[in-house]
Amino acid sequence: MDFSWSEAQRRFFDSIEALAKAEVATDLVMADREGRFHRAGWDACGRVGLPGLPVPRRLGGLECDALTMVGALERLGYACCDNGLLFSLHAHLWTVVTPLLALGTEEQKQRFLPKLAKGQWIGGNAMTEPEAGSDAFALQTTARREGDVYVLNGHKSFVSNAPVAHVLTVYATVNPAKGPAGITVLLVETEREGLEIEPVNKMGLRTSPTGEVRFRDCRVPVANRLGDEGAGTFVFMRSMTWERGCILASAVGTMRPLFEMSLRFARARRQYGQNIGKYQQVAARLVAMKERLETSRLLLYRTAWLLAQGRPAYLEAALTKRHISEAWVQTCEDAIQIHGGLGYRVETGLDRELRDAIGSRLYSGTNEIQSNLVASLLGL
Ligand SMILES: Cc1cc2nc3c(=O)[nH]c(=O)nc-3n(C[C@H](O)[C@H](O)[C@H](O)COP(=O)(O)OP(=O)(O)OC[C@H]3O[C@@H](n4cnc5c(N)ncnc54)[C@H](O)[C@@H]3O)c2cc1C
Repeated sequence: MDFSWSEAQRRFFDSIEALAKAEVATDLVMADREGRFHRAGWDACGRVGLPGLPVPRRLGGLECDALTMVGALERLGYACCDNGLLFSLHAHLWTVVTPLLALGTEEQKQRFLPKLAKGQWIGGNAMTEPEAGSDAFALQTTARREGDVYVLNGHKSFVSNAPVAHVLTVYATVNPAKGPAGITVLLVETEREGLEIEPVNKMGLRTSPTGEVRFRDCRVPVANRLGDEGAGTFVFMRSMTWERGCILASAVGTMRPLFEMSLRFARARRQYGQNIGKYQQVAARLVAMKERLETSRLLLYRTAWLLAQGRPAYLEAALTKRHISEAWVQTCEDAIQIHGGLGYRVETGLDRELRDAIGSRLYSGTNEIQSNLVASLLGL
C-alpha cells in the first residue's frame, strides 16, 4: 500500500481547499440556527465537479478512484466547516451516484449522471422507515407492479437531502411475503405525483436538509428500477460498503483543525504562571486527539485502497465508520474541555461541531449495528 499523493493529486486537493475558503465558507452560526442549506456553496462544489467525483468524464464527472476521492473529501473537510453541506454531498455521492454508476443501465446513467455529476441535481436515499430503522430489511413500503410501472405506497424517515433533492433511491418490496428477497430499488424523481416531503428539524447537521417522505400511489416507470427486481439487499449492502468506508473522509479533515486550534490554545493559554499544555491532563488529551486523527486517517485510506482495488471491504468499512465517528465525537469533547469556558461559547463553533459529530454515530447504521456486523464476520 502506497498512500503518497502524486503531484496532480496534491494540486487537485489544493484547488479544493482554495475553493472551500473562497466560495463555500458562510456565516455558520446563523445558518446552523436557521437550519439553512448553503445552495451557493453546493453550486460552487458542483462547478468543480465534486458531486461527480467517481463519475466517468464522458458523463461529466471527474473519474476519480476511491483513494483520490477520500483525499479530496478529507481536504474539503479541513477547509470547510459546514459539516451539513459536506454531509449532503456524501449522501448524494454514496447512496445515489455510486450505486447508479455500478448498477444502473446505460440509459439510466445517461439520463441521471450528467446532472448529478454537476450538482444540478441532488440525490438522496430513502431506506429507513418509522418501524424499520436498524432492522432496515423489515421495511413496509410497497412497489406494486402494474404493467410497465411500479406503484409506490409507504413512509420513509430521515431522508437526507429530501427537501432539496431531485431524485431518491427508494427501497420498497414487490412482495412482503418474500421478506428481504422482495426488496427492490427504484430511482424516483421528487417531482412525481404521489410523493410528499416534510422537512425534519435536527439537533446537528442542521445545514443539511432532511425530510420525511410519503408515497401515495406514486407511479414510477419500470425503466427506473436500479438492478433486478428483488436485488435491493445486494444494492443496499454494496452502497453501504462505500458509504461506511468513505462518508467520514471529511470528518478526518475536520478533526485536524479541531486538533490544531486546541494545540495552539494549549500553548498560548496561561494559568498558574505557565501554559496549560504543560499540565499532563491537558497534554494527554492532545496526544489522544493526535492519535485518533492518525488512526482514523489510516483506516480511511486502507478501506479506500481496498475499494479502489475492487476487493471486499465490508468489515473494514464498518470498522472505519465506527472508529472515525467515535473519534470525531471524542475529539470535539476534548477540544471543548481544553478551551474551558470558551469552548462552551457558540462563537467558537465547538457546540455545533459536537452536535454534528454525534449524528455520525447514528447514520449509515448505528455504531452498535457496526459492532454486530464485525462480530458476525468474526464468526461470533
Ligand atoms: C443525521 C441522520 C441522517 C440520516 N440519513 C438517512 C438517509 O439519508 N436515509 C435513510 O434511509 N436513513 C437515514 N438515517 C436513518 C438512520 O439510518 C437510522 O436512524 C439508523 O439506522 C437507526 O435506526 P433508528 O433511528 O430507527 O434506531 P433503532 O433501530 O430503533 O435503534 C435504537 C437504538 O437501539 C439500538 N439497537 C437496535 N438494534 C440493535 C441490535 N440488534 N443490537 C444492538 N443495538 C441495537 C441502536 O443502536 C440504537 O441505539 C439518518 C439518521 C440520521 C441521524
